Amino acid sequence: MRSTAEQSVDTITEAALPPRSRPSAAIGRSLRRSQVTDTIVLMAIHPIVVYGEPVLHRRAEKITEFDEDLAELVADMHETLDASNGVGLAAPQIGVGKSIFVFNADDDYGVRRRGTFVNPVLIASKVPDTRPDPDDETEGCLSVPSLDFPLKRADRVTVNGFDEKGEPVTLSADGWFARIMQHEYDHLQGTLYVDRLDKRWSKKWKKAQEAHGYDQPGLSWMPGVDPDPFGH
Ligand SMILES: [Zn+2]
Repeated sequence: MRSTAEQSVDTITEAALPPRSRPSAAIGRSLRRSQVTDTIVLMAIHPIVVYGEPVLHRRAEKITEFDEDLAELVADMHETLDASNGVGLAAPQIGVGKSIFVFNADDDYGVRRRGTFVNPVLIASKVPDTRPDPDDETEGCLSVPSLDFPLKRADRVTVNGFDEKGEPVTLSADGWFARIMQHEYDHLQGTLYVDRLDKRWSKKWKKAQEAHGYDQPGLSWMPGVDPDPFGH
């Protein structure tokens, strides 16, 4: 899921500090980020596939082996998410049809939550049967670049799953963070937020989809290399 304008990015704060007061880890990270060619190799940032790519539109497969390959894939997903300035990323978005998503965002109480769900199961409160508020309930997706649309979501969720080591993880959330959980969980069912829009917004999406060519396979973009599609 893309971030909103209100979501601050921690690296901006680090970069704003005078060089001598930066912690060394932050310097290392900044340097690696500035070397675009090396970044791809060292950090294994993956291209993000766009709506129309079949892997996005089918149910992801469950993970059965919690091994080194999984740990590497999860690490790559976090790197890719950071480089994309997003708040959540599901494995199908990097072309891997596995039941994994990662997230990194502040919740409604200002607490930064960063983590991983493997084979998650989501339980949500009822989605209100009202129109979404375009100011407060607009959503975007890294796989639907440069667009956003209002969508009603459940206010409360609980997610149960595992981390990359196979340890059980449970997370309850409301508001904005609950929205992120629903968005990412949807990805693992082969559903994108634009597939859930009400009649009015769905019409606008269909037009934009055609205009952007998001109705056929083959499109992708590279976080940290291509211009940020959401202007972050
Ligand atoms: Zn998404």
